Amino acid sequence: MSMRIFCIANQKGGVGKTTTTVNLAAGLAQVGQRVLVVDLDPQGNATMGSGVDKRSLPLSVYDVLLESATVAEACQRGVAGYDVLGANRELAGAEVELVELERRERRLKHALAAAQADYDFVLVDCPPSLSLLTLNGLCAAHGVVVPMQCEYFALEGLSDLVNTIKQVHANLNPELKLIGLLRVMFDPRITLQQQVAEQLKSHFGDKVFNTVIPRNVRLAEAPSYGQPGVTFDPSSKGAQAFVEFAREMVARLA
Ligand code: ADP
Ligand code: MG
Repeated sequence: MSMRIFCIANQKGGVGKTTTTVNLAAGLAQVGQRVLVVDLDPQGNATMGSGVDKRSLPLSVYDVLLESATVAEACQRGVAGYDVLGANRELAGAEVELVELERRERRLKHALAAAQADYDFVLVDCPPSLSLLTLNGLCAAHGVVVPMQCEYFALEGLSDLVNTIKQVHANLNPELKLIGLLRVMFDPRITLQQQVAEQLKSHFGDKVFNTVIPRNVRLAEAPSYGQPGVTFDPSSKGAQAFVEFAREMVARLA
């Protein structure tokens, strides 16, 4: 299988993008895949949550976007069996600097092409905006995975994202597609969540992953230990759901 690149995106903050990125990465690594996480959020949460210290990165995704380093030079090994192209606040400046440059939205795509042989999966953790950084992710990707909470307003934001995907598909990256919606932080005791979860499935059909990620405190605790939940507490319900999700992703692409 050739290298597949997926953006984990949703323009809302706090919906579970970073949790999905690091735990899917750890799950894929556990089932034998070679994985790179690209942190495109200047907050650097995916970097820290993979056990890489964002405060002491010799090189980061910033250097890669400005083409002063390759992916192979700038990436680091995380604690959970996958590599990390890390980010920190420096990346917020790249947004401004990139505007001036040629091929400004294709920098990541170009950089990842040189790492083709090294990975099976690249997961790009996007910031909560449709910025030039996110655009770099969308231009590089084969598909988008959208984590969503099963709340009443979840569908509102979704149409903006779906439109953006359509536009990028039409103008910049004909390969891009919506891979699927992932229901996260699910609490089966809440009737409204059950209803929205079912609505999503009936409305979007097989664009909704079968795996559902439960709300699970171990997933929320893991980042403070510098690990994905999948390695922090492998027996927890959250960890098991993400390993199941990794298997579902691999099966979908087979
Ligand atoms: P985003 O990257 O979209 O901003 P995060 O992945 O950082 O979202 O998640 C937001 C918050 O919710 C974090 O504190 C995270 O630990 C917590 N969280 C995410 N997924 C779960 C889950 N399945 N169960 C419990 N807490 C979760
Ligand atoms: Mg995040």
